Amino acid sequence: MSTPSTADLHLHTYYSDGTEAPERIVELAKELGFSAIAITDHDNVEALAIAAPLAGRLGIELIPGIEMSASAEGIEVHLLAFYMDLANVALQQHLAEQQARRVDRVHEMVRRLQRVGVKIEAAEVLEVAGKGTVGRPHVARVLQKHGYISTLAEAFQKYIGQDNPGFVPGSPVLPQQIIRLIRDAGGIPVLAHPVYLKRDALIESFVNDGLVGLEVYHCGHTPDLVRHYEQIADRFKLLRTGGSDYHGDAKEGSPMGAVRLPYAYVDALKAWKAAHLARRT
Ligand code: AMP
Ligand code: ZN
Ligand code: FE
Ligand code: FE
Repeated sequence: MSTPSTADLHLHTYYSDGTEAPERIVELAKELGFSAIAITDHDNVEALAIAAPLAGRLGIELIPGIEMSASAEGIEVHLLAFYMDLANVALQQHLAEQQARRVDRVHEMVRRLQRVGVKIEAAEVLEVAGKGTVGRPHVARVLQKHGYISTLAEAFQKYIGQDNPGFVPGSPVLPQQIIRLIRDAGGIPVLAHPVYLKRDALIESFVNDGLVGLEVYHCGHTPDLVRHYEQIADRFKLLRTGGSDYHGDAKEGSPMGAVRLPYAYVDALKAWKAAHLARRT
């Protein structure tokens, strides 16, 4: 009997806050027997072109993806997008703005941390981030290096989490605007890890804004929560997706292989895309 085809549709590389190279993610997918993966870096698509040649050689289907930050009522909202046209001008412009905003945000976070006696520098955070998108996990690594915390999770509890002195929201853009941007660029907008949102009522408002899918299968979801989100997906006729949210040894998310999405869900995404394109012409 052959192994059933599976996919992992939520993966980070060092083009955002993961620690692995794009090529390494493709190799891991091959070793773990995945048929398809989506690389979904935060506000960045650079890893996709780098991973594509190796994915082609190893026979791994690489689905264009991204995880975009937004905020609603002061709450962080992460939207995954699949199959967007990466050359779309509005998308490119948004990503350039978002990169600049994230650099400004690091300076602001560091200023706020300095006010409470934490002596770290923005330059070091930017150096740790290296290529691509800078974010809170890079601030956390610098806090750890200088002995302010012992685990990265502690940084989010004491210094840079939503209610902490160093917190600055990741993006002022509304989910509604991000969903529109994704749809206009031919992509499929999916709400990432709804458990972190903690507000199911928002899901309905996102559906009214044009949300197409829900990330039902995620390491942050207990079996009970998976059933809960399966029901929500059914109620609003949302497609279901899932992935490991692997960040390499940055310890967030879960290891690759912890979440295996049956390939039928990828077929459903493709069918939606085909139907949507057909309607547009
Ligand atoms: P940012 O996009 O800069 O706001 O950073 C958000 C990222 O930080 C998330 O996507 C996770 O990768 C990571 N993160 C959020 N909360 C935690 C936590 N409690 N512990 C470790 N990493 C976290
Ligand atoms: Zn992340
Ligand atoms: Fe996320
Ligand atoms: Fe993620």
